[in-house]
Amino acid sequence: MNKKNKVVYFDNNATTAVAPEVFEAMKPYLTEFYGNPSSMYYFGGRVGQALDKARAQIADLLGSSFIDPKGKHSEIIFTSCGTESDNTAILSALQTCPKRNKIIVSKVEHPAVLNVAKELERRNIKVGYIPVDSKGRIDLQRLEEMVDEDTALVSVMWANNEIGNIYPVQKIAEIAHNYGALFHTDAVQAVGKVPFSLDDMDIDMLSLSGHKLHAPKGVGVLYVKRGVRFRPFMVGGHQEKSRRGGTENVSGIVALGRACELAKANMEYENTVVKALRDRLEKGILERVPSTRANGDLEHRLPNTSSISFDFIEGEAILMMLDEFGICASSGSACTTGSLEPSHVLRSMGIPYTAAHGTVRFSLSCYNTEEEVDYVIDKIPAVIETLRKMSPYWNH
Ligand code: PLP
Repeated sequence: MNKKNKVVYFDNNATTAVAPEVFEAMKPYLTEFYGNPSSMYYFGGRVGQALDKARAQIADLLGSSFIDPKGKHSEIIFTSCGTESDNTAILSALQTCPKRNKIIVSKVEHPAVLNVAKELERRNIKVGYIPVDSKGRIDLQRLEEMVDEDTALVSVMWANNEIGNIYPVQKIAEIAHNYGALFHTDAVQAVGKVPFSLDDMDIDMLSLSGHKLHAPKGVGVLYVKRGVRFRPFMVGGHQEKSRRGGTENVSGIVALGRACELAKANMEYENTVVKALRDRLEKGILERVPSTRANGDLEHRLPNTSSISFDFIEGEAILMMLDEFGICASSGSACTTGSLEPSHVLRSMGIPYTAAHGTVRFSLSCYNTEEEVDYVIDKIPAVIETLRKMSPYWNH
């Protein structure tokens, strides 16, 4: 079998397949019900109702029960993607707290947060970067030392896209609040995999993205807890209660609503069956290939993610050879593919260069099977052996 007739897709943290049920739900909103949800007449109004239904489905997955006087789950604001949600949250916090001139983020955030932080530094905003240890765990003691009365926002991701670590966001929110700072979490990788209820938590803002949970690309959400100060990023029409201008991506939003409903129903499956597949894959590779290690906080990570370092070879070379067998995975994060530098996440963890360079991330979904896992376990040893034979650093 080669890539022409087989695809084994183990790159679900980069993006996911649109679920068939999701595609069915969104189709009528591309063909039949194409009205503008803001229009006054019935043909538009029924589209507006579809947005409200999606808002309720999403709120249900997130555990956000607040309903405004108009009967809407208005803690949910639709955006175009996770990146827009992250940008909006960070800039809003700074604009609504003009007396505070500092934000704090972790060193292992996605570029959707880190590059905003870097841009803000150029505009003379102070940025604190919370370090992590060799397992990628956040140093809460350091956070306590960094946060102060000048801090507008602490932003720490719920789950890391490269190593899968799950971070103690409730604890971090409490620390931020002790100093009057807001707390935002990038939950793009956590939603649908980590069960939680925002009603019971102190999270002010949360980002999610449709294409990571079997909805299409181009739709996201920013959750803003009721009462939290907010300033829009996209300014325009009165959509989303004037909190995000621009006609909503109706079919994408309907899809996201349905995807959230499915994610809630599949949460148990994700944390049992998918987790078991991930564990089988990881164990199979580590047992068969010498000089390998699994990265991250192995007891506190997403059920679908495995980051494995193969000493003395290049991750990109591994990916190219796996591609010949139709196997799709990622080296570091998809967004950093193309650069040969080890990812900022692995560097922050202090993973030795010889291992960080040869790191591959496998990320599974509910559509993967045991047969696929065994196929990958079967192909990997020869791939690694071939590459190591060519490596000047490998002399076993
Ligand atoms: N945050 C995390 C943790 C991600 O993994 C990603 C995508 O890889 C994003 C943000 C960006 O999401 P989007 O592609 O929807 O902009």
